[in-house]
Amino acid sequence: MIRDPELLNQLVDTISRFVRERLIPNEVRLAEEDAVPPELLQEMKEMGLFGLSIPEEYGGLGLTMEEEALVAIEIGKTSPAFRSVFGTNNGIGAQGILIDGTPEQKAQYVPRLATGELLSSFCLTEPDSGSDAASLRTTAVRDGDHYVLNGTKRYITNGPEADLFTVMARTDPSNKGAGGISAFIVEGDTPGLKRGPSDDKMGQKGAHTCDIIFEDCRVPAENIIGGKEGQGFKTAMKVLDRGRLHISAVCVGVAERLVEESLNYAIDRKQFGVRLADHQLIQAMLADSKTEAYAGRTMVLDAAQRKDAGEKVSTLASCCKLFCAEMVGRVADRAVQVHGGAGYMAEYAVERFYRDVRLFRIYEGTTQIQQLVIARDMVREVS
Ligand SMILES: Cc1cc2nc3c(=O)[nH]c(=O)nc-3n(C[C@H](O)[C@H](O)[C@H](O)COP(=O)(O)OP(=O)(O)OC[C@H]3O[C@@H](n4cnc5c(N)ncnc54)[C@H](O)[C@@H]3O)c2cc1C
Repeated sequence: MIRDPELLNQLVDTISRFVRERLIPNEVRLAEEDAVPPELLQEMKEMGLFGLSIPEEYGGLGLTMEEEALVAIEIGKTSPAFRSVFGTNNGIGAQGILIDGTPEQKAQYVPRLATGELLSSFCLTEPDSGSDAASLRTTAVRDGDHYVLNGTKRYITNGPEADLFTVMARTDPSNKGAGGISAFIVEGDTPGLKRGPSDDKMGQKGAHTCDIIFEDCRVPAENIIGGKEGQGFKTAMKVLDRGRLHISAVCVGVAERLVEESLNYAIDRKQFGVRLADHQLIQAMLADSKTEAYAGRTMVLDAAQRKDAGEKVSTLASCCKLFCAEMVGRVADRAVQVHGGAGYMAEYAVERFYRDVRLFRIYEGTTQIQQLVIARDMVREVS
């Protein structure tokens, strides 16, 4: 749903200009320094990017899902690590509190998340529980007016820097499945919360992950999200529904950027006396990538509109994540191919994007998990 087309166009134009004029020129610096330049972080905060999908009453821009998807497509046209910092805040870091938090929890944390004063993270994955997230082992044991957390969370985006963590932990040891899990808000400076060293990743340099280790970490009982035990896994799944649409939109943006990079290169370079773009086998790659990026855009916007209309879109969100993450992988592969040897060289953006996009098929539910979710929902619907 687009509430005010003129206002949204202005926002998308502003973001598009910011991407073109400020972020794209700093992509190499981002990768080389493995950090978002501080002045760009400040500009992102001033533009409201940390509060895109946070309701206006908490100081965010309160975008609908369709509006957020259109913005995420624009942001996708530059290195995904730029998005990772604020996307995590708007998305998996804040949504648990927003969707299921008590009014007091929302009032205490969400306004500061919306401005970027607080940076947040989402802690679900563990060393022995990834795709099978419901088997997680981190424990939270009630002790008076606190819970005591013990366990390790793995590959946590924003982990090295975050001020606030949404942590899924088992409060009922007799229930080994989803029903035994609760979600907690844990402040980054709580004694007993430790951060492992930053992971050395394949791509998306500038976005950081690390282990988050809880050793007798005492969290106030009022920090259990929604005030009730046993709801945490459901909260995590609701958060991921929205996150999957957001990530799908980012994949579309990256794919559109790669189509543009491929086309420009194919027009500039000549082989056998003609432009690469005049060779039909190159044209086939360009056409396939353009078509797939368009298909991704169309399906993400359709699912987003349905979500705004109140439809339950878990299955469609998984369809989008499955298609768009795989699609951008194919588009990146073709982009390298169109560039030939240059595509293998760090000097060209496509080499970096080729590594960056690999992650989309893995996090927020792997491709195989999306397939399982879609098929499970299909079978459940008819039976
Ligand atoms: C850079 C990065 C950032 C991340 N950020 C976060 C974060 O902020 N918060 C967080 O909680 N997690 C985060 N993750 C973790 C991510 O969500 C998990 O890595 C992902 O869910 C997969 O889990 P796993 O790595 O344990 O792989 P596994 O679950 O061990 O899967 C290995 C392979 O087996 C397949 N597989 C597993 N089960 C099945 C099955 N039943 N049927 C068929 N195939 C199956 C998988 O698809 C995959 O191909 C991040 C990961 C990375 C790499």
